[in-house]
Amino acid sequence: MVNAIISDIHSNLEATIAVLDEIERRGVNKIICLGDVVGYGANPNECCDILRKVSNSVVLGNHDAGSTGITRLSYFNKIAAYACVWSARVLTRQNRRWLKTLPITLVNDTDLVVHSSPSNPTAWDYILSLEDAIKEFNAFDSHLCFVGHSHVPVTFVKKDNQYDIIHPANGEVKFTLDTNAQYIINPGSVGQPRDGDPRASFAIYNKERKEIEIIRVPYGIETAKQKILDARLQRFLAYRLATGT
Ligand code: ZN
Repeated sequence: MVNAIISDIHSNLEATIAVLDEIERRGVNKIICLGDVVGYGANPNECCDILRKVSNSVVLGNHDAGSTGITRLSYFNKIAAYACVWSARVLTRQNRRWLKTLPITLVNDTDLVVHSSPSNPTAWDYILSLEDAIKEFNAFDSHLCFVGHSHVPVTFVKKDNQYDIIHPANGEVKFTLDTNAQYIINPGSVGQPRDGDPRASFAIYNKERKEIEIIRVPYGIETAKQKILDARLQRFLAYRLATGT
């Protein structure tokens, strides 16, 4: 069984198509999405339409919640709140309804899937540091916990009460899972990477080989950028795509 783990699509159609092409090449059986299908980018409906087709394992992200009235806009900074308002305005009734039905967490076989954090999934907390992760390891028992939200690909490891971090080198990394350890795995963001590498980021989880791979895919950034400018979303959201920040 080979799973693709994708997260933080953010209405970026060009990045989504590029990642799905790569996923198809790699013989994936199942796609799991960690939320934030919409928000920031210019193609929320197109991304919802695609995700609804390719995955029945999608959890709710804070931008999905903000764009459908589940999370109050006062939670967001100005730029994110405006993007939520814009997305809410253009979303079809069907896609809004679909986003509203997404679960906060799900279990894939035995592994936990959540957008932000296992300890308090609706508070939309970030797991940015090893200190953050140490607290979160107390909140789940499964071998793996997949999280998104920070848009930075990183893996935290707990074994025998020792902790470690696996950072991708040059954006990508492949490692074998130790069955005696626990992992918090963030695959990075498809549609708005923030680790300084503008390429779309996602993960492949090969269960038989017990292997995780973080993969980067170049996509049509200029097109995605121009669409954001044409939609009169904040210009910052267009320009940050090129720098991956
Ligand atoms: Zn996000």
